[in-house]
This record gives sequence, structure tokens and C-alpha cells, in this order.
Amino acid sequence: MKRDPIDRSGLRPGYWEDTPLDRMTTREWEALCDGCGKCCMNKLEDEETGEVALTRVACRLFDDDTCRCSQYPIRHQFVPECISLRPHDIDKHMYWLPQTCAYRLLREGRKLYDWHPLISGTPDSVHRAGVSMRGMTVPEFEVGEDDWEDHIIEEPT
Ligand code: SF4
Ligand code: SF4
Repeated sequence: MKRDPIDRSGLRPGYWEDTPLDRMTTREWEALCDGCGKCCMNKLEDEETGEVALTRVACRLFDDDTCRCSQYPIRHQFVPECISLRPHDIDKHMYWLPQTCAYRLLREGRKLYDWHPLISGTPDSVHRAGVSMRGMTVPEFEVGEDDWEDHIIEEPT
């Protein structure tokens, strides 16, 4: 089992069920991320319909083995456009956030799934449930943008 890079220790059990997103501490907010890796995949947006398609073409900093950003603390030096999701701007990102993303689920008033590390107690449950991108990606430096269309996938849910 790999160590969970997100420190979820000592958080009040079930805090996400009764704490509004904009009242969470930074640690509580960060602990909501399940590590699925789907937000680190490139997406294609249809200009006419606004529909967003997920691809398996990963950001250049994504590590397919760990399913994590390889340079998270200093990622903006390499990928300035990487988004830091925050409670005040989550609404403008809802249209592209993955269906199972914990931030999206809670913003929509839904529950976290049992495989979420906050409930299961282990980050491995995300991979075991088949909802992560681990082992499924191709790095963006191997696929030209014109070919991303060939790598569109259904979101693993
Ligand atoms: S999609 Fe959401 S839950 Fe999954 S890695 Fe990204 S921020 Fe975390
Ligand atoms: S910079 Fe890191 S966190 Fe941002 S999209 Fe790329 S892999 Fe994900």
C-alpha cells in the first residue's frame, strides 16, 4: 500500500457532511481530494455545445504509477495554468469537474462514495473501485494536441 500523500489524520469523522465547503479549514478542504487523477487529464470542449470530453492524455507532471502530480508543491513553475480549486470559485469549474470528484459531489449536495479515502481509510480504495486514472494514461508530450480526440474516454465511475 502506498502512503497517502494527503494528511487526513486527526480530522473529525464525517466533517464533510455538516461543514459547508466555504467553512472548511484548509486541511479539511484538501482532504476532500480522493486522488482519482481525473482532473489532471486534458479535456476537449465542444465550442458549440459546451460539452466537455475527458481524454486519457495526462498533464506532463502527472505520474501514472502513483496517480499523483509529481511536483505538486511547485507545479505552477512548470504548469502555470494548473487550477487551484477553492470554495469561492468552485461554481465556475463545475461544468468540467469529473462526476465523482468529491468537490463536485458535495457542491451538488450529494454524498461521498464509500471508496473515498475519508471513509475507507485508505487511498487504495479509489484505485480498487476502478474510478481512478492509475495505469490508464498517456503523457501529453507523447500525443500531439490534434490527436487528443483519439484518446477520448468515458469517465471511470
Ligand atoms: S477530480 Fe477531484 S477528487 Fe479527483 S483528483 Fe481531481 S480534485 Fe481530487
Ligand atoms: S500540474 Fe500537477 S496537479 Fe496540475 S494538472 Fe498537472 S499533474 Fe495535475
